[in-house]
Amino acid sequence: YDDRDGVIWMDGEFVPWRDAKVHILTHAMHYASSVFEGERAYNGKIFKSREHSERLIASAEALDMPMPYTVDQIEAAKEATLKASGLTDAYVRALVWRGSGEDMGVASARNPVRMAIAVWPWGAYYGDAKMQGAKLDIAEWKRPSPETIPVHAKAAGLYMICTISKHKAEAKGCSDALFMDWRGYVAEATGANVFFVKDGEVHTPLADCFLNGITRQTVIGMLKDKGITVHERRIKPEEMEGFEQCWLTGTAAEVTPVGQIGPYTFEVGQMTRDIAAEYEALVRA
Ligand code: PMP
Repeated sequence: YDDRDGVIWMDGEFVPWRDAKVHILTHAMHYASSVFEGERAYNGKIFKSREHSERLIASAEALDMPMPYTVDQIEAAKEATLKASGLTDAYVRALVWRGSGEDMGVASARNPVRMAIAVWPWGAYYGDAKMQGAKLDIAEWKRPSPETIPVHAKAAGLYMICTISKHKAEAKGCSDALFMDWRGYVAEATGANVFFVKDGEVHTPLADCFLNGITRQTVIGMLKDKGITVHERRIKPEEMEGFEQCWLTGTAAEVTPVGQIGPYTFEVGQMTRDIAAEYEALVRA
């Protein structure tokens, strides 16, 4: 990804893509002092842009990083970066991190808080699997307790077990891995939230120890508007045996049907296909 034409917004100005570099003693590289956003633009407009900017600021605050920009400034910067990319349908990555400076130990209060925005094309997150039903592995690692780490921050440190689990899943021929939480309840995938269908009603894990995705919240609202009952509750893994349909939600994943999780299988049913199509229409509306 580093060898491309175009520009990246860094600390308030555009720099050529290939020159958007940081020093090796960047605090974030050593201690995961970094938070980010993943957003998608459709027809030239970033979907739920403000919600993403607000979450970015909340994530930075959770890591004790004073944000150098307001929501409005972030909004303007993202819009300008999208425009500079010349793309109308694109992925938008905003990143905030502790740079290099006075501190090289765990504490970093004297180091600058820095920010970058990059925009690039990104198609279906699960590739060809998207509408056929993705196959998921069950991760060995567990989503941690909210007493362990700021679980609602979109922070780089929370992705370490995601990368390990996704590598393992891909080595087994799966598209992704599903995490249980530290109590053993169903949690989320490595970069997306999970939904199940049974008897015309929807069940999704309570977002009490993982990212309450913006797509998750959007899809819950869409289902409720259609008069479909949505249960946000603790779900035991063995309940997956009785669920008929399953899908993932996320900015990158959008609505992706799931055909299998470990030993459990699901059909790509009508409700899954409807909500995927309606989400696609909404983001482009
Ligand atoms: N969980 C994790 C771990 C994620 O990385 C993402 C993607 N940001 C999500 C859930 C879904 O969040 P959103 O719908 O806001 O993209």
